[in-house]
Amino acid sequence: MLSETMLRMTKQRQTILEELRSVTSHPTADDMYEMVRQRLPRISLGTVYRNLEILAAEGVVKKIDAGGSKKRFDGNAETHYHLRCLQCGKVEDLAIPLVSGVEEKAASLSGYSVVAHSLVISGVCPDCQKNNKKAS
Ligand code: ZN
Ligand code: MN
Repeated sequence: MLSETMLRMTKQRQTILEELRSVTSHPTADDMYEMVRQRLPRISLGTVYRNLEILAAEGVVKKIDAGGSKKRFDGNAETHYHLRCLQCGKVEDLAIPLVSGVEEKAASLSGYSVVAHSLVISGVCPDCQKNNKKAS
């Protein structure tokens, strides 16, 4: 039988998942805490962190290592690529087709049992380019 704590956890986790899936901004755990708090005012930052890690470990969401200081989360767990702005730090989806056969090639070259690949293109976003022009 599920304890009350377990049921509450499940509701919290469900809410975190819904909020993450409602955005395309690839939020950090801190961003997620601010979002989820609107619906669950008593939730703690630690609970948000823990549930995001659980969802990522289960493969329901993805953790993005985009080279920034903070981990970001993606409600879309399908393989897709990202752009990261080196100046403002935003991470966006990049709508280009998946590189085909790269996992198979990596597996046959290395002997690894490959589970995933990712691609992050770094640069300066159009907004930041515009601001840089204004400032100079
Ligand atoms: Zn930018
Ligand atoms: Mn994404």
